[in-house]
Amino acid sequence: MKRGLTVGLLSGWLVATVLGAGAVAEPLSKPDVVRWTRHLVPLPRDIEFKGAVISPADQVAISAPPDAEPLVRQAVKELRECLGLEAAAPAKATFTIRLRVEPKDAGIGKLPHADQAYTIRPDGQAALVLTGGGPRGAYYAAKTVQQLLRAFAAEGKVRVPLVTITDWPDIEDRGFWGADTYYRLRWMSDRKLNYDEQIARNGVDGQKRCFVDLSGGKRKIIDEGPTYGINPVPVVLHLEQLSGSGLFEAYPELKGKDGREGTICYSNPKFVDILAEWLVQWRDLPGVTEVDVWMAENLAGQKGCQCEGCIKEDRSVLEARTIVAAWTKARQTRPDLGLRVLTSEETEKANPRVIAELPKEVKLWYYHSLFTYNAREKPMIPPYLVDAIQEGRWVGVCPNICGIVGTFQPFTCPQFIHYRMGEFVDKKLSGLLGYPVPGIAHTRLNAEAAAEWTWNLAGRSPREFAVSYAVRQGYSDPEKFADWCEANGPVAWDVYGSEWPSGEKRKRPGKLADLLREGKLPELGSVLFSAFPIPWGDIKTVQQLDRDVSEANRAVQLAREIGVEEYVQESLVIQGYIQAIHALWQLKQVVKPDGVAAADKPAARRWFKAYVDSLDQAKAALPAWEKALPTRASSDHYTRGAVEIVTKMIAGMKSLAVDLGCGP
Ligand SMILES: [Zn+2]
Repeated sequence: MKRGLTVGLLSGWLVATVLGAGAVAEPLSKPDVVRWTRHLVPLPRDIEFKGAVISPADQVAISAPPDAEPLVRQAVKELRECLGLEAAAPAKATFTIRLRVEPKDAGIGKLPHADQAYTIRPDGQAALVLTGGGPRGAYYAAKTVQQLLRAFAAEGKVRVPLVTITDWPDIEDRGFWGADTYYRLRWMSDRKLNYDEQIARNGVDGQKRCFVDLSGGKRKIIDEGPTYGINPVPVVLHLEQLSGSGLFEAYPELKGKDGREGTICYSNPKFVDILAEWLVQWRDLPGVTEVDVWMAENLAGQKGCQCEGCIKEDRSVLEARTIVAAWTKARQTRPDLGLRVLTSEETEKANPRVIAELPKEVKLWYYHSLFTYNAREKPMIPPYLVDAIQEGRWVGVCPNICGIVGTFQPFTCPQFIHYRMGEFVDKKLSGLLGYPVPGIAHTRLNAEAAAEWTWNLAGRSPREFAVSYAVRQGYSDPEKFADWCEANGPVAWDVYGSEWPSGEKRKRPGKLADLLREGKLPELGSVLFSAFPIPWGDIKTVQQLDRDVSEANRAVQLAREIGVEEYVQESLVIQGYIQAIHALWQLKQVVKPDGVAAADKPAARRWFKAYVDSLDQAKAALPAWEKALPTRASSDHYTRGAVEIVTKMIAGMKSLAVDLGCGP
């Protein structure tokens, strides 16, 4: 599976050769090549270095056909900016970077996702030819070259690689939705992500006119996304959540009869007309070629419309049929409009029948608030989706890139992202719609790792990725950073995979202090109803728990040696959490429904104190971690929710300790 770096090297091939007036060719040692490739993200699949040319930056020319597509022109612009050139064709050029789009060249057109595929080839020692299977391929070739150029640029000189690369992505659509991603389009594009989706306004005004709108910064996905090769896709929000849209004020007859508030009567053809009109309006905005309609998310045990027409059919099936009818209608005037449909926990049971309703060209995003938003070490893609893929359907998935959606905490874990993306690539998914909340600043490494392994799963191991990430961040000891990732990451993954501590917020299984008091704490590895893993669902054995505690200690030590504050604080959060879980496990052994035996009281007292002290440590480290993040906005206080949960957990356990005669 793991192929590692393909690094070819002709050592001693080039001796200092003077090229033209300024460029000098030089050989590369193997460590030199390894160092250089660590600046690349994602890692291209086949790379061979044949040397490098040192050139004055202002003597590198960038050329493209005069009638080049906008993305190729953008590639020229970015290369020019990267080199600090005033013009693409400097007066005195000793090296040329030539861009072109030629799908027939060297079989690029036969590669997977050929429009994004590219090759880079030296042409002698004074030119590099960048060939894209489509404009996006040429753009991505330029991204790779920019990363190589930026690695060694100083004092007006650049080192240009004489490199041969053939590259293409594993997964067709790679991107995110929501959070702050619309402010990070260039960041995403630099990592070859090509997709961004945002919740939009789809409404009906007082004159019964339909309108669509992307508010505030979200509009950037349309205004800037296509410039950076990112498909902007507006969302029609979950169809039971349109109450604020003016829909029911304009058409009260569309309100579902005896159903949950917000549900729509799908037997009334008026809704098809309205949805079709929204789709048409989106298609008419520049760069928008597809819309994603999110199916109803959660009826909380209630029903959809109970009118005579609607009760004859399954609610989710009827909803899918309505969406397809609206899309079909919109396509009468906008034949090239694409449609995506996002599932939900409400549709989960009916998903195979929902899929059967969708024409093959409709793209499906798999989402479920419990099944795709979690950090469990458990496969995510159900067999019915694998079947749909094998039948030739386009299926993507919407997973979290952070630890826990809604309770924001540090989670730097390349192992987790590698595991998830590995499943998606192996099962031949076509898209990633990641959710990096609260934002890219808080999920930097994981978000970049998602870009890495949706493009090239077989390239880097989690450790190699961690080393390369450290190089790109400029950390002084990349190997030690990788050691830290290997110590901290798996522990953090066990913690969040057990939905710790945020599972405490749910009604089930209930507050941990209550479960402890009543003797209802489960065994290690136990997951209530296969969905609620707190407190130790992803920790299967005592050995694993003990190893996690000692690895967390090692992570704190390593982070202090690295000396980067955000990782020190992250390690303290994770160490606090795993020590609290360990203390809770010890308490389970001595706290019985009828109390604590006299002989066990000293131990119980010690473990109650350890639990409280450990959570106190995590509570202090959470905001300190957020404060230390280099790229967050100073107004961000996203860890407050986690602090609140932990504070309540501490209070609950202190009170139980006193009740049991084991207080401090
Ligand atoms: Zn109805």
